[in-house]
Amino acid sequence: MIKVLILGGGIAGVEASIRAKKAGFDVTLISERDYLYIYPLSIWIPTKEISFEDTTMKLDELAEIHGFNLIIDEVKEIKAKEQRVLLSNKEVDFEYLIIALGAGNKSLKGIENTLSICSKPEEAVGLCNLFENFLEKKEGVLSFGFGGNPKDSSTVRGGPAFELMFNINTLLKQRGIRDNFTINFFAPMDKVGSKMGEGAVKNLQKFFKKENINVYTGKKIDSFVSDGIIFEDSTKLDSEYTMFIPAKTGHLVVKNSDLPTSEDGFIETDEYSLVEGFKNIYAIGDVANLQGPSWRAKQGHIAEVMAENAIFNIANPENRKSYIKHINILCLMDTRDGAILVYRDLKRSLMIPLFGFGHLLKKLWGKYFKLTKLGKFPKII
Ligand SMILES: Cc1cc2nc3c(=O)[nH]c(=O)nc-3n(C[C@H](O)[C@H](O)[C@H](O)COP(=O)(O)OP(=O)(O)OC[C@H]3O[C@@H](n4cnc5c(N)ncnc54)[C@H](O)[C@@H]3O)c2cc1C
Repeated sequence: MIKVLILGGGIAGVEASIRAKKAGFDVTLISERDYLYIYPLSIWIPTKEISFEDTTMKLDELAEIHGFNLIIDEVKEIKAKEQRVLLSNKEVDFEYLIIALGAGNKSLKGIENTLSICSKPEEAVGLCNLFENFLEKKEGVLSFGFGGNPKDSSTVRGGPAFELMFNINTLLKQRGIRDNFTINFFAPMDKVGSKMGEGAVKNLQKFFKKENINVYTGKKIDSFVSDGIIFEDSTKLDSEYTMFIPAKTGHLVVKNSDLPTSEDGFIETDEYSLVEGFKNIYAIGDVANLQGPSWRAKQGHIAEVMAENAIFNIANPENRKSYIKHINILCLMDTRDGAILVYRDLKRSLMIPLFGFGHLLKKLWGKYFKLTKLGKFPKII
């Protein structure tokens, strides 16, 4: 029986574990957390639309349903050439290894003065607690932004910043207190939203104007302080609540291991997710150096395709599947009272408002995601 060791219990690692069991492999999943955190749902934690627990799934329950082994421990180092993985207190060897550890965050001076919706799950809860204070005070200066990465644009994650900002904007309007708040958006690039296509750039600009959101773009961020953001030209944007999503960088464990990486620390693979120079190690999801057009983005659905392919490719080395044709941007950008379908592939880029139905659709997606992982609903896509 083929033995597979999978590192990381996120979207990619869990999908790979389920697929590997279905393929008849002996599977062990190692995760530092005892739960799967469904990042796309976490945008609703800061506004209490969803509880923290609702964005998680217990890994031991998934392990029992699908029959894979589970070790809750932290991966410290991967000794790829020696076929060993070092954990906190022990080491494990492997026949096949699938690395799905996600990515790290690029740090900036004073980052501790910010909270991110895309980092540790606890930060989403922190954003919720902080926002509660402003709801009580009924006034405040709230700022939302994301960082850039000139070395690798696929690591820039802007969508959740827009989603959280739009959700908070709508909530304040619904409570009738929006006029008491200043909402700022900041990012270092000149054209915000260009990954989604030229139309998106214009639509976002119109939306910011209509919703009275102040825009600070085209200036590199120097640092964060307790009451604001300092730009490279030494100007300061005052802020009492700063939600900032740093660009992604390679995972520290990967940077400290003997694996081939891009300049920024992402694992180099071929289009079949096989790590360069190895015949038995795959890297899937955010941990891998994503190939494709300049607008490509690290996304959950690509992570799942990579997971499916990696298992298929281990079982069928003569007939492998590539992830390249699945590269697209697909996102339901939620606004609390609606959602906008954002889609981009090599041929087209679309932005379609779905109004209240879109919000419902995103909620339904969350239910669908959980039910399929629990084996209670067939996976359609
Ligand atoms: C707020 C937000 C909204 C998003 N919305 C969308 C969306 O609408 N659509 C979409 O397609 N994508 C979306 N994404 C992107 C998507 O969530 C990611 O691409 C996806 O989570 C990547 O999956 P992954 O398994 O590679 O990484 P992760 O989900 O980050 O999982 C990595 C796992 O590895 C574990 N791990 C890390 N280090 C160690 C260690 N040393 N030892 C043991 N375990 C470790 C972590 O605990 C985690 O469980 C969103 C992301 C965020 C943050």
